[in-house]
Amino acid sequence: MKRSNFNKTLASSIGFLSLSKGLGQFLDIKPKKKLGIALVGLGNYATNQLAPALLETKKCELKGIVTGSPEKVEKWKKIYNLRDNQVYNYQNFDKIGNNDEIDIVYVVLPNNMHKEFTLRSFAARKHVICEKPMAMNASEATEMISAGKKANLELFIGYRLHYEPHHRETIRLCQEKIFGKIKFFEGGFGFRIGNRDQWRLKKAYGGGALMDVGIYVIQGARYTIGEEPIAITARSFKTDHLKFKEVDELITWQMEFPSGAVANCTTSFSASTNHLFVGAEKGFIRLSPSYTYREIEGYTRNYIFDFQRVNQQALHMDGISNYLINGEPHLNVGGEEGLRDMRIIDAIFTSVEKGGERIAL
Ligand code: NAD
Repeated sequence: MKRSNFNKTLASSIGFLSLSKGLGQFLDIKPKKKLGIALVGLGNYATNQLAPALLETKKCELKGIVTGSPEKVEKWKKIYNLRDNQVYNYQNFDKIGNNDEIDIVYVVLPNNMHKEFTLRSFAARKHVICEKPMAMNASEATEMISAGKKANLELFIGYRLHYEPHHRETIRLCQEKIFGKIKFFEGGFGFRIGNRDQWRLKKAYGGGALMDVGIYVIQGARYTIGEEPIAITARSFKTDHLKFKEVDELITWQMEFPSGAVANCTTSFSASTNHLFVGAEKGFIRLSPSYTYREIEGYTRNYIFDFQRVNQQALHMDGISNYLINGEPHLNVGGEEGLRDMRIIDAIFTSVEKGGERIAL
């Protein structure tokens, strides 16, 4: 039985459970107003998106930081009202297990460090939100999921778009076949990457366009078509062989789905693209820009979407917290969802290595 269903069944079968106690007590979480989150890695995404979002969340709040850069600490303490005993570094991180204020560790490090800090967080008896891509490959992702299950703790991935209204509505229109069966998906996410020294251009760190932003296109194809691909064909192209010596610059790939639907996808570290298109029998949906956390825009064959911008990160973290506290289902942002993407990423790299060979999944 799924955890969420289990919680609901449990709730209905325990008549004396008072509402004020909540379900959190069954999930290793002491009943309290908000869950505590510790951010690991205070880089761009943690500093400019996640921490500010935690000032808007209703069900969770920032209760700890983990950093290898002591010079950042004073500023964070001041802005987020943190005490010395809420600050950790990568060496003493494991002591976080003694901190009852922290329920969830949010791993916001370079991709090659995701597995290590996820496993260390589980060992410290904390739930984990891990940024995308969840690992370096499917094998690591499987290990992370197993560790969570073994520890009876939850693993979530930073899939913020599952909480974004344009994407929610697109998923609904596709699921309910409002425009008939889906035949075709087209998507791309890319930008021109700057600084040549950054980890995103290093293979050992899990760099490259596919791992960084191509994963959003994989997600888009999977959650609009609503199936898992059965085969992948991919090719890689480079124009700057020095800058992209270690990682992919631009990859195009096709995914074949059981119903016969096809997805045509692109990711790039040299060209700007940000779109999602779903072609169905009786109409289409287009989002562009589609994957940003700024303004998303879109329309169908018949009308323009009119959704306000939301704080995707706040909704995502609140959705996860609500699941942990109340057992309210989260919007498919669990570790298994991350693993499905990692298997596809592995297949894309295999196809590229084999000169564009069709890889059956
Ligand atoms: P960043 O380079 O800005 O930050 C990385 C952090 O890790 C820095 O604080 C850095 O000091 C720290 N770090 C620790 N050890 C390091 C090492 N050996 N080398 C380099 N940095 C090290 O990166 P970011 O943009 O914040 O991305 C972090 C993670 O968040 C990545 O997995 C990325 O894919 C993900 N991310 C997700 C989104 C999203 O929308 N969901 C957006 C941006 C980034």
